[in-house]
Amino acid sequence: MKIASIDVFPLEADLGNPIGFSQWYYGKKNNLVIKITAEDGTIGWGESYGPSHAIASSIETYFKPLLLGKNPLETECLWQLMWKSYLDFNRLGIFMGAISGIDIALWDLKGKAYDAPVRELLGGTSEPIQCYATGMYFRKGVPDEQMIPQLLTEAESYIKLGFDFLKIKIGKNLDFDCEILEAFRQNFPDTLLAADANHAYNFKESLIIGRLLEKHNYTWFEEPLHPSNLSDMAKLRNLLDVSIASGECEQTRYGFLKLAEAKALDIFQPDPAYCGGISEYLKIQAIATANHIDCIPHCWGLKINQSVSASLLSISPENPGRYEKRKFYLEMDQTEHPIRDCIFKDSHKVKDGYLHFNDLPGLGVSVDEKLLDSFKAVTK
Ligand SMILES: [Mg+2]
Repeated sequence: MKIASIDVFPLEADLGNPIGFSQWYYGKKNNLVIKITAEDGTIGWGESYGPSHAIASSIETYFKPLLLGKNPLETECLWQLMWKSYLDFNRLGIFMGAISGIDIALWDLKGKAYDAPVRELLGGTSEPIQCYATGMYFRKGVPDEQMIPQLLTEAESYIKLGFDFLKIKIGKNLDFDCEILEAFRQNFPDTLLAADANHAYNFKESLIIGRLLEKHNYTWFEEPLHPSNLSDMAKLRNLLDVSIASGECEQTRYGFLKLAEAKALDIFQPDPAYCGGISEYLKIQAIATANHIDCIPHCWGLKINQSVSASLLSISPENPGRYEKRKFYLEMDQTEHPIRDCIFKDSHKVKDGYLHFNDLPGLGVSVDEKLLDSFKAVTK
């Protein structure tokens, strides 16, 4: 089998209402879809997380010439070929985002070639995966005191859908953050809650917020500090009982090894569409397990990444494990996303807070190519 073609589709869609987190407001959603076709017509779909035009260009100009004609089933060897080809330059960032999307497409293609779901190739089960709802983003132009009731109402809608675990955004300002954390615990006493600061705080601020999260029994504190501030992160982790989670900005086994060595985290959150793909996630998960750290994918994109992340969760080590199984929840972004909700013909169903795998080979998702044109991103 040989790779006959590689196509990239940078996509974008306007949002009806901008959504905000601690760093900026999104008025659009951007994604990069990758299609790899073998000579016999078998197609693999991949997705990269990050600046879509820049990643698309690195695939078009750099990785595509390297991969055409190669055997797409040799996923591990092709990963090493791509990695080695630019080892002398910047080993992370955009190029690793590109490798991630290509690797995902190759695994999808391999599953179809062997007529098996990717989760089975990985050795996983088909048991439904419980999901947590990510939402409660800041609303542009809404005063803080009006926003919190609106976000509580939003949360109720997810609970009605069957979610029993919600992740909210913090990192706006300390007053708002303290208020929303209290309000969510008060209004949802029996719901699992996590809070994501997207690296908004300095050490002292993170300690104030961390103590509040601890008091209100939040499940984890996500990205409290700058992703490179490992020494403060380790200090924070020592001072708090609440789990510290981070890693969506990190890539490769080498990056996560540094996090493990710093003893900075309880939970790794590699994004398969950015950290190096399925092939690299497996190495990151091995580092996590060997260091007694949980590994839960960051997943904030299309249904391709949802399927990848669910497949990877299907092989999650229990770390260390006991008679009553611990649950590892899949991130299920609830924000408006016209691309994610339109372009897929086949996908895994999300119902009552669970992702239920279909029996299709590969990643079990397929793209309606006619619809890709309507979301084509224009380079400005
Ligand atoms: Mg996050």
